[in-house]
Amino acid sequence: MAVLEHLTSQQAIDLENKYGAHNYHPLPVVLSKGEGVYVWDVEGKKYYDFLSAYSAVNQGHCHPKIVGAMVEQAKTLTLTSRAFYNDMLGKYEKYATETFGFDKLLPMNTGAEAVETALKVCRRWAYQKKGIPENQAKVIVCENNFHGRTTTIISFSNDEVARENYGPYTEGFVKIEYDNLTALENALKSNPYVAGFLVEPIQGEAGVYVPSEGYLKEAKALCEKYNVLFIADEVQTGIARTGKMLAVDHENVKPDILILGKALSGGVYPVSGVLANDDVMEVITPGSHGSTFGGNPVAAAVSTAALEVIKEENLAQNAEELGELFREELNKFIPSCDLVVKVRGKGLLNAIVINDTEESSTAWDICIALKENGLLAKPTHGNIIRFAPPLVMDREQLMDCVSIIIKTLNEFTK
Ligand SMILES: *Cc1c(COP(=O)(O)O)cnc(C)c1O
Repeated sequence: MAVLEHLTSQQAIDLENKYGAHNYHPLPVVLSKGEGVYVWDVEGKKYYDFLSAYSAVNQGHCHPKIVGAMVEQAKTLTLTSRAFYNDMLGKYEKYATETFGFDKLLPMNTGAEAVETALKVCRRWAYQKKGIPENQAKVIVCENNFHGRTTTIISFSNDEVARENYGPYTEGFVKIEYDNLTALENALKSNPYVAGFLVEPIQGEAGVYVPSEGYLKEAKALCEKYNVLFIADEVQTGIARTGKMLAVDHENVKPDILILGKALSGGVYPVSGVLANDDVMEVITPGSHGSTFGGNPVAAAVSTAALEVIKEENLAQNAEELGELFREELNKFIPSCDLVVKVRGKGLLNAIVINDTEESSTAWDICIALKENGLLAKPTHGNIIRFAPPLVMDREQLMDCVSIIIKTLNEFTK
């Protein structure tokens, strides 16, 4: 079968099922085109994308400026490895560090790699700067975290599906309750060898858990008190998703280490990165870390364009305003609906909690019904549906989406 042959949805699904590893359980829709807030399936049906590839496509599908930057660079120079300099990386590093207010960027490709990189930077800092005895460094993490899929990262996950039969696990992590400052202080107090605190400003995968106001600011202050690095994983919450460039900006918190991915490239290419100031990043020396593709010229061109789009199109402000509107409209509706317990979120990272058990298929079935009505979303954990459209949406489109969601929930019977 030629790759370019036109497939029906069922044929495409059958091929994936037969030849691909079964590490996902996708919604049964086969997409073949995207533009802005819309995607189309192979039969030509149009949908609103309310997942945005887990917030990688904040700038909208196939944004012409970002795709243009990629095509231009791809025709010129794609990969040199870091064995040589290239003429794009330095310019990108200058732009990215100025954008986020750090001295240095360490470029990687995927979110999980950037998290791994941050952990390595943190451990090195612990031994070389803080003076923690060799192999004793601990990193505090939160329950129900999601930081990616590597063996080390799943070692400190408490999602059994993600962990099961992947041991032995990496040591050196202390898990505490999210949004609990007493637990954080106790962990810091009781362990002299803590190097860092790794936290998502909003727990996205766990079901869009927004911590109490002031949590991040207080957590950062505690980290300072105990000389521990505050490491923000903004792979999902960053790049304007929550209504500010970074979610930590809502509390004016400056992390010691910032982790970015997903929308750092607008979803056209895998680009991630770790930002820190010199006093931390200088622990990384030639040979101590690397990546063949990290910092390649295409990634540099794409990511620069992706960040420019966020600023030029005021996407943070748009996310803030449309997010308010979205929650306001759903809050008007929820009292009349037995199916939905609440809506929560920040900016355009929101979720509704379905009135059913974790194990029930209700959230999944609602997503199938939403798909039939022209809107694509996916349950996160069990009975929670995340709503995260591209940030290039306008008011009219958002209201159209609200009516699709309300109509679907009204029609829905378990
Ligand atoms: C998606 C995500 C990651 C992992 O990114 P990948 O590119 O899938 O490796 C890490 N942290 C958070 C918060 C994420 O949402």
